[in-house]
Amino acid sequence: MKKIKANLTFPPSKVTFPLMTLLVREYSLEVNILNADVRLNKTGKLVVELLGDEKNIDDALEFIEGQGIKCHIFNGTLSIQEEKCIHCGACTTVCPSHALQIEQPDFYLTFNKEKCLVCGLCIKACPLRILHLDHRESEE
Ligand code: SF4
Ligand code: SF4
Repeated sequence: MKKIKANLTFPPSKVTFPLMTLLVREYSLEVNILNADVRLNKTGKLVVELLGDEKNIDDALEFIEGQGIKCHIFNGTLSIQEEKCIHCGACTTVCPSHALQIEQPDFYLTFNKEKCLVCGLCIKACPLRILHLDHRESEE
């Protein structure tokens, strides 16, 4: 089994294309939509997690590209120098997926890696610059 996280960019002509249904039905993938910005007649963006057989994922990525939908795979991960964190919450205000949160009762920063979209928005928001993305990203 393989799991990937990818950013899909749909041209306006493809925003109503039932891609997720096809990925499930034709490629037996589990699809988890992490973030969506889709409007009629506009370029659409989806961040998805795909889980399935390695060959099925490779075939699905080829199919996606063949439909004119751009696919950017995230292989990077966010790391935090936790010992330096002052739990100010600045990073949580820009995190679109709520992967970073300040939680009660301690008001300490928590990071949910599964929710992270690897967008990098939090990096500049941190006054101490203790958030980093590795650069193992690739285009498919
Ligand atoms: S990279 Fe940072 S801002 Fe983006 S989703 Fe992950 S934790 Fe949130
Ligand atoms: S912005 Fe930086 S110092 Fe503040 S909570 Fe986030 S990681 Fe910690």
